[in-house]
Amino acid sequence: MNPSEGDAAVFLDRDGVLIQDVGLLRHERDIRIPRGVPAALRRLSEAGFRLICISNQTVVARGLLDEPAMHALHERVLARLEALGAPPLTASYLCPHHPHADDPEYRRVCICRKPSPGMVLAALRAHRIDASRSFMVGDRISDVVCGHRAGCRTVLVESGRHSDPPIVGMTSTAMIEPGTRQPDLLAASEWIVSQAGPRNTTHPAARATG
Ligand SMILES: [Mg+2]
Ligand SMILES: [Zn+2]
Repeated sequence: MNPSEGDAAVFLDRDGVLIQDVGLLRHERDIRIPRGVPAALRRLSEAGFRLICISNQTVVARGLLDEPAMHALHERVLARLEALGAPPLTASYLCPHHPHADDPEYRRVCICRKPSPGMVLAALRAHRIDASRSFMVGDRISDVVCGHRAGCRTVLVESGRHSDPPIVGMTSTAMIEPGTRQPDLLAASEWIVSQAGPRNTTHPAARATG
């Protein structure tokens, strides 16, 4: 990969994509990894993509977990994924805010909460990622809008809350169509790899093995 052009990445929503969406995740015992997720992450990593988690975690704004506990629980999610054979993620970005938070410290209209693109934009800068060769995968239209605003292609997976109404803070005029709809992350990973150009592989021969 030409070092001047930046890496390609797949930005991944967490709840409903990497793990089952069980509502507001507060306990390690409620972490459920859907079948196919570790294999999907391996597929994307082997195709040359950086993997970065981008998640709204209103559990903090709602006063159900403090910020250190939220990060500790997220570390347990990552450890569970790796224990099942997933490659390590490059980074995770978690927004603890909500415009109607119970806790005033977290009650704000921030630039990180999806559908705002703040977390993806920060990741693009921090990890020298080329947005135009990158993808955002989420189960809600707020994920799609976030990825689109950051300049990435988008995938809506129908493995979570894809049929829920838009999240708080979204207006109907902000909605757009995803680049594709796929049943789950494994199907999404196959679609992304099929779309990616040869620059996403470390060696041209690597494409033939896909
Ligand atoms: Mg989700
Ligand atoms: Zn935020």
